[in-house]
Amino acid sequence: MTDPKKRGFRTTLSHVGRKSKHEHGFVNPPLNRGSTVLAPTVAKRQEMQARRGERVLTYGLGGSETHWALEDAMAAVEGGTRCFVVSSGLAAVTTPLLAWLKAGDHCLVPDHVYGPARNFCDGLLKRYGVETTYYAPEIDEAGIAALMRSNTTVVYTESPGSHTFEVQDVPAIARAAHAGGAKVLMDNTWGIHHFQPFRHGVDVSIQAATKYPAGHSDILIGTVTVNNDADWMTLHGTARGLGQYASPDDCWLTLRGMRTMAVRLHAQMESAIQVGHWLRQQPEVAHVLNPALPGAPGHEIWKRDFSGACSLFGVEFKPEFSPLATHKFVEALELFGIGSSWGGFESLAVPTTGFITRTASVPKFAGPVVRIHIGLEDVDDLTADLRQGLDVMRKSV
Ligand SMILES: *Cc1c(COP(=O)(O)O)cnc(C)c1O
Repeated sequence: MTDPKKRGFRTTLSHVGRKSKHEHGFVNPPLNRGSTVLAPTVAKRQEMQARRGERVLTYGLGGSETHWALEDAMAAVEGGTRCFVVSSGLAAVTTPLLAWLKAGDHCLVPDHVYGPARNFCDGLLKRYGVETTYYAPEIDEAGIAALMRSNTTVVYTESPGSHTFEVQDVPAIARAAHAGGAKVLMDNTWGIHHFQPFRHGVDVSIQAATKYPAGHSDILIGTVTVNNDADWMTLHGTARGLGQYASPDDCWLTLRGMRTMAVRLHAQMESAIQVGHWLRQQPEVAHVLNPALPGAPGHEIWKRDFSGACSLFGVEFKPEFSPLATHKFVEALELFGIGSSWGGFESLAVPTTGFITRTASVPKFAGPVVRIHIGLEDVDDLTADLRQGLDVMRKSV
């Protein structure tokens, strides 16, 4: 048999989490729903309960074949050893922060971080005695080293930032973090398989699996993946302790989404690149913030560390257009919904300027920014729609 770790992305997604020979010949794993798991004897029940962290059916919260199939799929996609499925992408952010931080600790968080993660640091973590320092996303190794304190136990990363698309030098950040004894957590939702977190110094990888894995804008789910047994026990202890859980139906549907994820990601990446090139030629546009485009901010680090891209990017308009004019643009679009949860099959557009908080850095944008998600529609239809939206925006100034 060939080594499953050496298989390509498409092969992995077609075969991971399946053992059809044992499942009455059906291609897909079974969907087990349940809270109570019955034991044949009291002794057996005690034996099962003693095996914490292992894959034994003891109680619904401990997971089922359905959860484990999804965990295996995501661990394979991100190149880690084990994964815990949680109730949402935000829970995938907060659970490892709680697992690796305690009262009196300090954590470093990039200034472009996903908004609800910032709210969690400034709210609940602060209330529980954890101090957060925000840092400029493009920081280098010496910059992180200078911010490290004796009580810094977590250095958080998100690359690229999911609203302003700064690409982080994650390997450099990880070197400084590890030198100071901290764990590196990363929100890898944008990179998904195209950034292999554990090859670049990340210890804990966060996925809003709500996005491309689920892929159809109908599920909220998150995953946290680690790469060794000690980190698994830390994660498992906190996630189980919090009662973190995702419904087996949502796990089953997310696994179903992942079977086609490589193909969707590739098609959407290609379309996003085509639309990005087209946008660059429009007179209203100053910059396209997609690191996969040559010359775009972060392209050099993207080329070094990523094997592909997704279809979420920003458009910076020329300064003559106001943020309000970009609202007219977004509202005029017919094929792009005004909405935030990307990674589905449909295109989206949301204004960024005016909706993000910065405390440690100033984004380098002269004009307003709009975030675009490209779905599976035909590129010609999308560019025609964008052009008529730009015309409406132009008339509004
Ligand atoms: C959407 C998103 C999340 C949160 O995911 P939910 O499932 O909506 O809670 C976390 N991080 C990033 C970068 C996201 O885009």
